[in-house]
Amino acid sequence: MTSSIWNSTAPLTNFPTLKESIVVDVAIVGGGITGVTSAYLLAKSGKKVALLEAEKISGGTSGYSTGNLYAMVDKRLHHIQSKWSEETAGKVARSRMTAVNFIENLVKEHQIDCDFRRVPWYLFSETDKKDKTIEKEIAAAAHYNLEVHELDDLPLPVPVSKAIKVDQQAQFNPSAFVRKLAQKIDSENCRIFENSPVYHIEKEEELILSTASGTVTAQKVILATHTPKGIYALQTALYPYREYAIAAKLKSGDIPEGIYWDTEADFHTSMRTYSKGEDNYVLVLGGHHKVGQEDDYSRFYEKLEQNARRFFDVEEIEYKWSAQHYKPADGLPYIGESPDDNIFLATGFSTDGLTYGVLSAMILNDQLNDRHNEWSDLYKASRFTPVKSAKNFIKENLNVAKQYLKDLPRKAEADSFSEIMPGQGKVVEVDDEKWAVFKDDAGQLHCQSAVCTHMDCIVDWNDAEKSWDCPCHGSRFKATGEVIEGPAFSPLDKRSMNPKK
Ligand SMILES: Cc1cc2nc3c(=O)[nH]c(=O)nc-3n(C[C@H](O)[C@H](O)[C@H](O)COP(=O)(O)OP(=O)(O)OC[C@H]3O[C@@H](n4cnc5c(N)ncnc54)[C@H](O)[C@@H]3O)c2cc1C
Repeated sequence: MTSSIWNSTAPLTNFPTLKESIVVDVAIVGGGITGVTSAYLLAKSGKKVALLEAEKISGGTSGYSTGNLYAMVDKRLHHIQSKWSEETAGKVARSRMTAVNFIENLVKEHQIDCDFRRVPWYLFSETDKKDKTIEKEIAAAAHYNLEVHELDDLPLPVPVSKAIKVDQQAQFNPSAFVRKLAQKIDSENCRIFENSPVYHIEKEEELILSTASGTVTAQKVILATHTPKGIYALQTALYPYREYAIAAKLKSGDIPEGIYWDTEADFHTSMRTYSKGEDNYVLVLGGHHKVGQEDDYSRFYEKLEQNARRFFDVEEIEYKWSAQHYKPADGLPYIGESPDDNIFLATGFSTDGLTYGVLSAMILNDQLNDRHNEWSDLYKASRFTPVKSAKNFIKENLNVAKQYLKDLPRKAEADSFSEIMPGQGKVVEVDDEKWAVFKDDAGQLHCQSAVCTHMDCIVDWNDAEKSWDCPCHGSRFKATGEVIEGPAFSPLDKRSMNPKK
């Protein structure tokens, strides 16, 4: 079983399911850090808001992240500088630092118990092969008024050739922050509903969002669903990747708090510590791959465990989890109104979205209150940047096209249901159609079409998560076909058992 240390330690919220028809100014779909912070700000500004969460607050990627908050970016500031300009990289660093400071203010104002602390951020090379990357990042970060130091050693039992340290970054327990902030939202102006997945948005004069047992009519909608639900041209500029995490309980070792990013190419990892009562943990994350395009997903956990045991005195691996992120084609997230009038997006955060999610909420709050926001233009969702996007756009969309080609007749993984072991799933060809067939531990078969309900790509079995993952745009479905995440609105189509197989 996989579960994140955050979701296992932060108390759950208990909001009702939507069972009526209501009318609001703004409907927010998604109760992660983006949706909850947007709801908080919009309700505070006097807007009538409804927030609809498919499952539990912070049950999406926010609750499966690392909980680090920083001005820098996964892609590196020096890349943003060379792809865009010094001015743009400066705006990115400043806007992100503004969001980190805003989170700290919220924590203080509402006394949110989420282990928020200021810590240093480090990026390091293990060997001199990657020293150039570190040197470039030092030069870039120093340019943007960040407190930068160059080091050749770290307070970690890991080989270090060169490192950059940036002071005054932060970390917290993301689920504790998001869940407690949701409870602080002005309930006169905002109603929150859990276990209320939106399955359809009707565009009439206003927007009507439907769940299984209610509707919300709104003038504006924010899709705070990590990647937009439904079909948007923007999805050709968003590339879904998965990444893995473990929290290892330590027998001994005193690792100073900090955000530690290792540049080693074979298994780019991020490390941090967390304490729960008397127990100290080190979190190790890495193993990035395109969604739905692996043969053996479990090997990523194994590699993380090997890495953790190589460096630390590990008692046991108490938590393991994985999550998804969406890389933007031109290196910046997409925040603002979509080409569909009155629908607002906040996506393409890569692995930097705790900060970008809060920044999105700040930008969208200004936009929906007709106020100027100094970062709106930089991140606007409707921007068109063919030159800056070209390399990634071509590479990633060729990759998507290849996934469609894989859907050739007879390209199934099993010829009969008997080849499927209990607890396992396989794509099986049945009467010229591909089925995603899962055999549960009791031996019962669950059959559904293997065609993703977003844009018809064939899903892939993920052995580590027991899910069906779409290699094209990152939709994921439970073993029994229900939507977990990604752009698909609908579950995989059920098929009834074929006795011939
Ligand atoms: C392994 C990993 C580690 C990361 N670590 C960090 C980090 O340390 N720092 C950082 O800044 N970023 C990090 N990120 C990125 C960050 O976690 C995400 O970008 C961020 O959490 C996105 O927040 P969100 O609110 O937009 O989306 P989510 O947290 O995914 O929330 C979206 C919500 O929408 C709900 N939803 C979806 N569909 C529907 C529907 N139809 N109806 C109703 N609700 C729906 C989901 O249930 C979910 O709760 C990491 C990402 C990964 C993959």
